[in-house]
This record gives sequence, structure tokens and C-alpha cells, in this order.
Amino acid sequence: MTTMLLTDDEVRDEVRRFVAEAWDPDLTLAEWWDRLADSGWAVPTWPAEWLGRGLPGAAARTVSEELRAGRVLGPPAGLGLLLAGPTILAHGTDAQKERYLRPIVNGQEAWCQLFSEPGAGSDLASLQTRAVRDGDEWIINGQKVWTSGAQGADLGMLLARTDPEAPKHKGISYFAFPMDQPGVEVRPLREMTGRSLFCEVFFTDARVADSECINGLGGGWIAANTTLANERAGLGVGGSGAAGGGFPGRKGGMLDRKVGELIDGARMDAAQSSRSERGGALMAKIARELGRNDDPVLRQRIAEHYILEEVGRLMSLRAKQLRSAGSSLPGDGNLAKLLMSRLLRLGRDLGPELIGPYGMILGAETPGEGNFQEATVWAPAPSIYGGSDEIQKNIVGERVLGLPKEPGPDKNTPFRDLLVN
Ligand SMILES: Cc1cc2nc3c(=O)[nH]c(=O)nc-3n(C[C@H](O)[C@H](O)[C@H](O)COP(=O)(O)OP(=O)(O)OC[C@H]3O[C@@H](n4cnc5c(N)ncnc54)[C@H](O)[C@@H]3O)c2cc1C
Repeated sequence: MTTMLLTDDEVRDEVRRFVAEAWDPDLTLAEWWDRLADSGWAVPTWPAEWLGRGLPGAAARTVSEELRAGRVLGPPAGLGLLLAGPTILAHGTDAQKERYLRPIVNGQEAWCQLFSEPGAGSDLASLQTRAVRDGDEWIINGQKVWTSGAQGADLGMLLARTDPEAPKHKGISYFAFPMDQPGVEVRPLREMTGRSLFCEVFFTDARVADSECINGLGGGWIAANTTLANERAGLGVGGSGAAGGGFPGRKGGMLDRKVGELIDGARMDAAQSSRSERGGALMAKIARELGRNDDPVLRQRIAEHYILEEVGRLMSLRAKQLRSAGSSLPGDGNLAKLLMSRLLRLGRDLGPELIGPYGMILGAETPGEGNFQEATVWAPAPSIYGGSDEIQKNIVGERVLGLPKEPGPDKNTPFRDLLVN
């Protein structure tokens, strides 16, 4: 596998050649992901010795485009590839990289993010889940909440307090935590979308080996920031999110299915959900179909939606261009995430206004094929996860504009002495 820098055209040629040789609709998803992992095209920006190609960020976009153009499935979706992999690459020992990276890239293991707790969301460093040492293991007690995909996860990125005497950011450790064990109870929560994306997770004397502590004892906050930076980069307008070519892990039930069937299903979904027309363009089309395109107020708001989408697209192109030139714009990820929240709120209000009484029915037979109703009930989520809108604004204010920090206790105060929720 080559590590030298390739031009954009060379990347395209190599991916096309790989697809022509490796894709076979009769492969199972597990077999295809194995081939993709071996090729280095699943994670082209990772180092060559850890399943990647050592290419710059801009190449990842080219690879995704070529995989899509080749009409094949991309690498696994989910938080393993988006968050756990980059964190272990940055902070794990070689033994941890050996243990975890390949099953992330070839989709054999699914991960969830065990960070937020009922009293620790925006102020994550206030977390209270405890880890107490017992020989070569740690015993875990406490509760997490909002844990996306915990039902299907084999492993969790667990933040737990290993030293309550230390200041709150310093007494936290980060574990690669095995989910399938007595002492772990996963309770799915039903959302207003009707689905159960996230769960509560309860730990009662659960266990994790000391060897699975990422970034060393007390080094959890630094590793968590790597996870959160990857989350923010993936979630704004133009981010990749946790999308991919199917759900990883045995519990997802996809690994033994033929890729030929899965790709046909994915194409049908894309066609049925009008993916070629989304957002402002879809709204304009539906306004024409419903004869509402002469309503000046509606026209103005649809235009606003369309313009904001374009601004987001251009912001994302600028950020990628700067990154590939080795530079960056301070706060660009935060601003991209804030723009996405604004767009979703606008869509939440505009969609139902456009389709009128149809907005009360959830279903593919309504104008927009259910997209507007889905968007309305999903709209609150992105302005909360990955750091709420208010927290993004605090970050931009303090770290980009240099405004004074919020008042609070001295950062060296032991966690034990802090007031907690
Ligand atoms: C769909 C979804 C999926 C999620 N998935 C996961 C997951 O997989 N794993 C995980 O660990 N977590 C997950 N989360 C949790 C998410 O990270 C938290 O909800 C988020 O960090 C906010 O925390 P909180 O809910 O405790 O709200 P709080 O922190 O209690 O905030 C409540 C309100 O107060 C505001 N606020 C808080 N502090 C400040 C401040 N300093 N200045 C100004 N305003 C402030 C907030 O903006 C918010 O409006 C998910 C959330 C959602 C919605």
C-alpha cells in the first residue's frame, strides 16, 4: 500500500481500479468490508501502518465520491469509525490499536459514546460515574444517558471518574468498555420521531481491564476532547456525520447479508426519499406542485433556506480547502454546526407551513414524501448533540473572539469539593 502523496486524479484512478477488482455483489457485507479495510480506502487519511493511506483530508472526499460513483457500499457507519477510531489512533497504545482498529474499520464491532450523564452534558467534566480499582481491573458504577446506538454496541467509549480528589478535568479516565457483561443495563428511550436512537445505560459493578484505559490514568479529558473535536467536525453543515455503507457489529444484523442486495436497497431508499432534491430545492418543487409558488412570503422564506444552504456549502468548501493547504479558520466547525441548527429550525417551521394539513400525517404519500414531517420532529436534536448551540457560541466567544471566560470555581479545586447537580 502506497503512502506517497497522490494527486486527485491518481486517487480517483486507484479507487476505480480497486472497485473494479474487488466489488462482487455476492460478497457478504463482512467480506466486502474486509477487502475495503485491506485496500486502505476505508480510511484513506489514517496512517498506512494502521489500515489507511496517509493521505490529506481532501482525499477522503474524493474517495467517497469515487466509491459512490462506482455504486458500491462505503465503510461502516456509526461512532466507531467517526469517533473511537481517531481517538485510539491519537492516544492508544500499539496494543490497543492492534486490538480495536481493524474491527472498527471492517465493521466487526460497533461502538457507542458513554459520555453524557443526567447531571453532566454541557458541563461534561462534572461526570460522576465512578471507576474504582480492583487489581488489574476497574469496577464501574453509575449512569449514562442519551447514549446513541447503545442497543447495538459491542464497545463503549466510557468516561469515568477514577480520582475524585483531583480537579474535575484531571480525575477522569477513558476506557474501551465491553458492553456485553452482567452489570450493564441498556434501556432504549423512545423519541418523538417514534424511534429509539438513544438509550440510558446503567452500570452496577461492571468491569473493565486496566489495559483498556486510553491515554493513561487521568488522561481521559484530553482523549475526550479528541473524540469531541471529531464529533464537531463530522456534524456541521458539510460534515460527514456518522453516515456510511451499513451498520457495523453482529447485533446490527447486516454483516452476513449480500452486498448486492444491500446496495439495491440503498438505491431504492435514495430514489424513494427524493434525495436528489432536498431542503430549499425540494420546498420550491413542492410549492410549485401545490400552486403556492406565488405566495410572496413563502417564496422569500424558501429563498432564505436555499441561500443559507449555499452559504453552508461554500463554508464547508472553504474549510476543506484551507485544511488541505495546512491551514484553518478558527471556529469554522462551531459556525458550521450553528448554521445547521438555524437551517433545521427554518425547515421545521417552513415545511409544515408549506404542506398545510398534510403536516399532521407522517407518511410517504404526502407532498415531500414525509421528508418535512421527519425534519420537523428531528429538528431539535442537532442543536443539542455534539455541544448545544449556546455552548458553540460560548466556545466562539471565548476561544475565537477572546472574550472573558464564564466565572466559576478555581480550576484546581478537587472534584470532591465542588458543588454538583
Ligand atoms: C440525538 C442526540 C444524541 C445524543 N447522543 C449522545 C451519545 O451518543 N453519547 C453521549 O454521551 N451523549 C449524547 N447526547 C447528549 C448530548 O451531548 C447532550 O445532550 C448535550 O451535551 C447537552 O447536555 P444536556 O442534555 O445535559 O443539557 P444541559 O447541559 O443541561 O443544558 C441545558 C440547556 O442549558 C444550556 N446551557 C448549559 N450550559 C450552558 C452555559 N455554560 N452557557 C449557556 N448555556 C448553557 C444548554 O445550551 C441547554 O440549552 C445526545 C444528544 C442528542 C439530542
